[in-house]
Amino acid sequence: MTDRTATVAAARRVPADLPERIQHYIGGRLVDSLDGATFDVIDPVTNEAYVQAAAGKKADVDAAVAAAREAFEHGPWPRLLPRERSRVLHKIADLVESRDTRLAELETFDTGLPITQALGQARRAAENFRFFADLVVAQADDTFKVPGRQVNYVNRKPVGVAGLITPWNTPFMLESWKLAPALATGNTVVLKPAEFTPLSASLWAGIFAEAGLPTGVFNLVNGMGEDAGDALVKHPGVPLISFTGESRTGQLIFANAAPYLKGLSMELGGKSPAVVFADADLDAAVDATIFGVFSLNGERCTAGSRILVERSVYDEFVERYAAQAERVVVGDPADPATEVGALVHPEHYAKVMSYVELGKQEGRLVAGGGRPEGFPTGNYVAPTVFADVKPDARIFQEEIFGPVVAITPFDTEEEALELANGTRYGLAAYVWTNDLKRAHNFSQAVEAGMVWLNSNNVRDLRTPFGGVKASGLGHEGGYRSIDFYTDQQAVHITLGKVHNPTFGKGA
Ligand code: NAD
Repeated sequence: MTDRTATVAAARRVPADLPERIQHYIGGRLVDSLDGATFDVIDPVTNEAYVQAAAGKKADVDAAVAAAREAFEHGPWPRLLPRERSRVLHKIADLVESRDTRLAELETFDTGLPITQALGQARRAAENFRFFADLVVAQADDTFKVPGRQVNYVNRKPVGVAGLITPWNTPFMLESWKLAPALATGNTVVLKPAEFTPLSASLWAGIFAEAGLPTGVFNLVNGMGEDAGDALVKHPGVPLISFTGESRTGQLIFANAAPYLKGLSMELGGKSPAVVFADADLDAAVDATIFGVFSLNGERCTAGSRILVERSVYDEFVERYAAQAERVVVGDPADPATEVGALVHPEHYAKVMSYVELGKQEGRLVAGGGRPEGFPTGNYVAPTVFADVKPDARIFQEEIFGPVVAITPFDTEEEALELANGTRYGLAAYVWTNDLKRAHNFSQAVEAGMVWLNSNNVRDLRTPFGGVKASGLGHEGGYRSIDFYTDQQAVHITLGKVHNPTFGKGA
């Protein structure tokens, strides 16, 4: 152990009052799995198990869905006025805000995300609740008038039990992104959080109970995707599945849900391009593209993990980028100075490291390239930069989901577009140029659900969120989330003479 690692290990803060075990939350009660099964949860700095979580199976999911169905069919929640639900959601936001430090501490410990970034995610989770609390009271639905003849209006209704399946990157925030609109619109829910990171999700039950959410409205089942997640997807009493995760899991869920004709929202993987033209503000572009791939440990769906740079500024860009990447601070996730922490799990670490090794054959290594010096244990990867990466390289095509970036030169705008669109994914794109026409034309032509122009990934919660191609199906965000979690029933009323051709009068 080097001196630095010894310091990191010594300084490591294990949060006080960790739960003794992580249970399911069904019908207002914390419960173990019906068969008593558990799984180990590890922390990514020591890779040692620190707690056991209940491993849910079909029987546990059945119980959670039954509780959620009961609350939907007979409980007050779907029938409350929007303002009444909104008040509860605002209380939830207040509680999350007031516990942001604790939330961040737990999230950092469980995921390896740097503490300052985990704190930002906790605050964003509160904001998600506040946003949908406001939106449901401001909600207006369509009415269509045919003068003197007919009025048609939309009766918007919650759908029922929403199944929410979430990944391990920014777990608490991503759960809030689904929970807030599902609850705001009057549904009841069963949440299946990612098995790598169940710790922060265990706080929801207390927060919801304290805020006054009626019993049975929120249910949580921990467990493996192929057990608990699969049972939720195949449960006939769950008409909606909102899923965020890998594209290949999304494909499987799509197929498994098909016999039940469920409503599906799929937020999937990405390999988003950041395109830097020679006329761009290079200082801003370097800063933003560094942050865009190394923040959240690179475990970010919208990471700009392919940087395409116009040839006339390519060498300068690569040199500056590599030098800055080398200065990014890797460290103990709990240290406020840390910019890149530890990857979530040794399995994921092994996957990212295999791409780092592959990249050494497929590109020119200009920064990082393995375990950072002084960190012999834990899932640490030095921010890694490959230049001169060809578009058919696997590190150009495949989602790595770690602090690894591929840089590729281009000569013309047409070539830049072809490179940008040249993967199966289409989640986000970042465009850096000061040419107004090119900025808009390029943004509109790029195959991405979301484009940021001369900007980092800064999101307005009212805008649609989602990907095209292998990055997703459907959009959430703002009113699109409201649309996903509700049925829009059309009610037609005749005002005038009934338009009713009479059949059967005879010849
Ligand atoms: P994953 O697909 O392995 O798992 C996601 C969730 O699905 C987990 O809760 C898991 O238990 C569950 N699951 C796995 N198999 C299942 C099955 N057969 N049936 C039902 N549920 C199942 O994804 P991950 O590794 O946890 O997350 C990383 C991925 O998520 C990356 O690809 C990333 O790009 C993507 N992601 C996308 C967005 C977005 O909004 N587009 C946001 C964050 C993460």
